[in-house]
Amino acid sequence: MNQTPSPLTDTFGRHHNYLRISLTERCNLRCSYCMPVDGVKLSPASHLMNAEEIYSIAKTFVKFGVDKIRLTGGEPLVRKDFPQILELLSTLNVELSITSNAVSIDRHIDLLKKSGVKTINISLDTLSAERFHTITFRDYFDRVYQNILKLIDEGFLVKINAVLMRGINDDEILDFIAFTKTHPIVFRFIEFMPFDGNQWKREKTVSYQEIMEQIQGKYSNDQIIRLQDAPNDTSKNYTIKGHQGTFAIISTVTHPFCDQCNRIRLTANGQLKNCLFSKKENDLLSALRSNQDIEPIIRQSISSKFAVRSGLDGPESFEDPKQHEQNRSMITIGG
Ligand code: SAM
Ligand code: SF4
Ligand code: SF4
Repeated sequence: MNQTPSPLTDTFGRHHNYLRISLTERCNLRCSYCMPVDGVKLSPASHLMNAEEIYSIAKTFVKFGVDKIRLTGGEPLVRKDFPQILELLSTLNVELSITSNAVSIDRHIDLLKKSGVKTINISLDTLSAERFHTITFRDYFDRVYQNILKLIDEGFLVKINAVLMRGINDDEILDFIAFTKTHPIVFRFIEFMPFDGNQWKREKTVSYQEIMEQIQGKYSNDQIIRLQDAPNDTSKNYTIKGHQGTFAIISTVTHPFCDQCNRIRLTANGQLKNCLFSKKENDLLSALRSNQDIEPIIRQSISSKFAVRSGLDGPESFEDPKQHEQNRSMITIGG
């Protein structure tokens, strides 16, 4: 007997059990690779999901098979009702995690623990305070750095995300690797990706291969250990023999990993995006507010998902910045 497939299984058989929810389009940093120089047009407050709406939509996804939810943004911690949202979501049967810039995360440590959050992804693109200001236009390096150490001390698994940009921070790759010697973290190098307004050029992206070449220039093949990647992992994971931490590379630009994709995104204004690069979005919030069933909308979104990068399979299309003008800026997507 034929069973109706889950609304979260696409035409390529990929099951989407991982939902990323953006809580806000605002941020207390201005990272050049994420936030356009002129800022973004913010949605009116009434167009953003409130805590109950986030919970209600999340609950529907959990019913269909989502078992992992990550809160992101913008900066999720700038939302005043962040504690309420986290508490509501912690009642769902999911692995709950958060991506943050760590500027104010020390205020939420007890809440994060109480809500069952174990893994926290933190953005940090440099180990220099001066350069931190150049990249983020804010002077919060010390705070972020101290908060990372605090999170480690408090027993969280900390994953640090660094977007590498040529001529900006690619001379720090070996310093980041050295950081993993004494800190039990996962250091993730992310290839700089194109989004609306972030002035991306292919030359600015430091590729997986280039990152590995720098590391291989310092460490021998015996010292660089390839680790088993977790199922659906977007990164290739390694460690250096004797280091407490590990490192990983996320190579969306040069080696996309879409065949394993299990992730979908809900923007702060309630739009479902079936891919980071999708131009098309499906409006769940308006449907919820008018008491419509959101299942057919979810099904439609997932079933229309492309195999690779929302149809931008090859370098010609993906590397054309015009293709990304119809997508959002990263700050309003939620990475
Ligand atoms: N504010 C939080 C933070 O920075 O961790 C969460 C939101 S931020 C949009 C999520 C992730 O997206 C961060 O790790 C950031 O480095 C990454 N990101 C933003 N723009 C990117 C780009 N153009 N290419 C690659 N990663 C990017
Ligand atoms: Fe803010 Fe995160 Fe974007 Fe930086 S990467 S501007 S911290 S949302
Ligand atoms: Fe999934 Fe799109 Fe990212 Fe590929 S580019 S892994 S399909 S979200």
